[in-house]
Amino acid sequence: MQMKRCRSRSGNPGYRRSPNGGTAIAALCLSAIAAANGLSATPASAQTSCPADTGITFSPDWTQGATTIKNIMISINVTQEEFTKLGDPRSGPTAARALARDRIYKCFGDNFDFIYFILDSNRGGGTQVFSSTDRNRASWGSAIRLQGVVILPSRAHMVFGATLHELSHRWANHFLETESWSPRSCAEIQTARFVQHYKIKGEEKTFERKDVTCSQTIRTGLIAPPASRGPDDDPSHWGVSSVAGQLGGFAPGTVTKVTKNGKTYWEASNFFAHNAAGGNRVPYAPLELYLMGLAPLNVVPPVTVFTGLQDVWFEAVDTSANGRVSWELRPRFVATRTVYTPRQLREKAGPLPSAYDSDVNEPQMFRALGVVVTTTDIPIADDKSTYSWKDFQNAWYWFGMKSNDFSPFKIDGKAQLKRSYPEREVLQDITGIYNLYKATKQTLETYEDDATTTSADTTAITPTGKTVSVPGAYFAMTDLTLDIGPATAK
Ligand SMILES: [Zn+2]
Repeated sequence: MQMKRCRSRSGNPGYRRSPNGGTAIAALCLSAIAAANGLSATPASAQTSCPADTGITFSPDWTQGATTIKNIMISINVTQEEFTKLGDPRSGPTAARALARDRIYKCFGDNFDFIYFILDSNRGGGTQVFSSTDRNRASWGSAIRLQGVVILPSRAHMVFGATLHELSHRWANHFLETESWSPRSCAEIQTARFVQHYKIKGEEKTFERKDVTCSQTIRTGLIAPPASRGPDDDPSHWGVSSVAGQLGGFAPGTVTKVTKNGKTYWEASNFFAHNAAGGNRVPYAPLELYLMGLAPLNVVPPVTVFTGLQDVWFEAVDTSANGRVSWELRPRFVATRTVYTPRQLREKAGPLPSAYDSDVNEPQMFRALGVVVTTTDIPIADDKSTYSWKDFQNAWYWFGMKSNDFSPFKIDGKAQLKRSYPEREVLQDITGIYNLYKATKQTLETYEDDATTTSADTTAITPTGKTVSVPGAYFAMTDLTLDIGPATAK
């Protein structure tokens, strides 16, 4: 079984930092392959035996304007021990599999492409897991339909990510051989280049700008068997490549070759991460949409990949402006550049799970089950000390809906997410965050197809000047009922 896990580590030594102590860091994802856990693969057939003590509760009716949806989500009550296991990347998929097999599939039939478990927790960080089920779905209780399971550590992750990131792991894994630096190995060892002073509330502060050197590289993307992997290797992400999507990489055109002080190296004009790009703040990249079966190949530009990385460092570039002192760490490295053409990418992809159909200008529908995992009853009425059902339902509805309408989150006329902490409640602006529909429904430039190109320089593939609109995807929001019927193969 393959599992991908992603962990946001807000305390990690910074990549982008401002001297006032604030640290904004892209979520870091770690991935691992875990061995199959020995569960038998007996297919679940008849789904007619929902036990009396499943701990499953339907969410109350969800209403917005003229729309009422019954049973939009379910919750499952678990013990504290099970809850803790679900929140740990090593034990999460095994714990989730037991919930799916022994409770969900015994009550709901084989009707879901994806199951999202959302832990009823206020934790800010935590672990997000994608577990691919396409090779062993029977062990989860699904006979034919289930494609993947996502575990999110809190309700905020439904809105800010990695809701999109984890979903793309269903399709966009192990595709290109890529490399990156090990974030763990990046230490601040360079001498300060300059020192700035300024006042905060009348108090004099001094800040030093420092470059960061990374001593170790890792393998990402497509890599060899698990036994040969290093502890920091991170398969299934884009590494130092120009994919620039939910699974990382740099934006095309932002890495250029420079020669300074007699040394030739590659210089990025922005910070980027090898495995993430800011959660739900960014849409899917064209290559990701192609691999997901949501876009044609001719929207995929040639992809640049850097391998053989050496001398990796981040230059602390002064970005101070308007009296605010700051800098941004920008990657520099010595490496070998390879460009994959659209034809080469198509050959690598092979047959796709669901081919884009240009004749059908309808968004792709996936059926997903949202499961709130909790150790207590979820309040129906709004409760400032914790999340109510409405908070979970709003986030679930918004993420999957066939539009990008923030109505569920409108507070005082603005799109805001209520975030509760033990002592306080804050409202966070979520304007500009991508849900599934907005992240997938895009108008994209098209590129020449190099399949018929005889030119030796296939890297010179350029945009045609034409665009194509791809219809995107969404999650169906349907009333759940017990034993909702026979499985429907997609
Ligand atoms: Zn990931």
